[in-house]
Amino acid sequence: MKDVLKVTGENLQIKKPDIKKGKPRKDIVGIIEAFFVRNRRRFVYFHTGMFIALALLLIVPALLPLPADDTTVLNNFTRFAGFLIWGLWFPLVLLSVVFFGRLWCGLLCPHGALSEYASKKGFGRPVPKWLRWGGVPIASFVLVTTFGQVVGIREYPMAALEVLGGTLIIAALVGLIYANGKRTFCRSLCPLGPLLGILSRLGAVSFERVGRESKGYPCPTFINTAKKVASSNCIECFKCVNPGVPGSLHLQIRRPGKEIEEIEKRKPDSWEVIYLFSATGLALGAFYWLVNPLYVHYKQVLGGILLGAGLGDWIGWSGPWWLMVNYPAAGDVFMLIDLISVTSFMFLCMAGVAAVLFFLTALSALLLRKQAPLMTTITKLGYLYAPLVLVSLVIGLGLILFQSLGAFGLSRATIRMIQGGLFATGGIWSLYLAVRLQDGLNRAIVPSIIGIGFLGYAWYQALF
Ligand code: SF4
Repeated sequence: MKDVLKVTGENLQIKKPDIKKGKPRKDIVGIIEAFFVRNRRRFVYFHTGMFIALALLLIVPALLPLPADDTTVLNNFTRFAGFLIWGLWFPLVLLSVVFFGRLWCGLLCPHGALSEYASKKGFGRPVPKWLRWGGVPIASFVLVTTFGQVVGIREYPMAALEVLGGTLIIAALVGLIYANGKRTFCRSLCPLGPLLGILSRLGAVSFERVGRESKGYPCPTFINTAKKVASSNCIECFKCVNPGVPGSLHLQIRRPGKEIEEIEKRKPDSWEVIYLFSATGLALGAFYWLVNPLYVHYKQVLGGILLGAGLGDWIGWSGPWWLMVNYPAAGDVFMLIDLISVTSFMFLCMAGVAAVLFFLTALSALLLRKQAPLMTTITKLGYLYAPLVLVSLVIGLGLILFQSLGAFGLSRATIRMIQGGLFATGGIWSLYLAVRLQDGLNRAIVPSIIGIGFLGYAWYQALF
């Protein structure tokens, strides 16, 4: 008990940081912590700046004509805005979680900040039970991802404005209606929230309770800070951190992946694992329909069935741009058969991948023969896929970013090597977690290795 403090109620061993009761820390982490605490009221300037930047990046391209084929990010604003949003924003936010946790959410995300500010001025109604159900963020992710694909969110500025602008309006409305000074949108409706939450468990940053005197602070994402053990919903707003005040939470730097290694004590959540399995399957579907001949075959078969059913006129209908891609000038027009094929193909990929991963994880859980209920062990083991999912999404969403590295003189082979190195790191990290979560090398690890191989192969086919 010399350097380790047992926290009652949560059975969690936390290394005691170098602080003396009543005195702020003087180490580098303490200095960073004090800096953020001192400036947390100024976060509003970052929120406002990000909101204005996002509004410009969404609205201006929507008012401009579509870029010509021979334009680049250097001479066309629409391409430049697309690069910032899809080439930098999305992949770097995901990657940043490993180094900084969900600092993006607390410091920079315009959606979350808008929801919180609206909530301060709103009706403050209690958050209804259905909105607190764990399946809601999964439904939000599925809806936004599939809808984004059928309206061409990455290619067409009007579609990006519709989806990202629409989610901004929903964030504001949810904030206006529910709770007071909270981020109900981030906790329940953000399509990326659970993904960032799961990945933040891999992160090097956490906010920990220290000692018995931990007390509750008002938290915008509804965390009971007096009992906090998990990082997933913490957006690093620093509101519960007050250096030198007994009972404050403290910023801590830890080994990446540590929280998942000790997931049993860190409030594992089966909804997070369901989200992880479903999200990676749906994202795979979103890549496969663009690059894999399997999709073309699937569409032909489906079209044949619908034609045979006498629905030929119906499936040839093309809808408005806000419902499905419809840009005749760019030679890109969806018909109803495209909408049906893309969405059903993505759903099938999601269901197939989730089913395979669930089956293999259940097999490992059975072989482990733990005394805990089977679903508890499945939930714990499911987290081992987090690193592989992380790097796959970073490489997939960051394709534009990697391509642009060529402009800095990097050869195609070098870029491939960087991508391959990242991909291999994710796979090895997942394998390492499999060993740690399954108490070493034993037969229970075989299904996990098959699962990592299956997911790695599926992503490799989509990305390389
Ligand atoms: S736990 Fe603390 S730092 Fe994390 S979101 Fe809640 S109040 Fe902010």
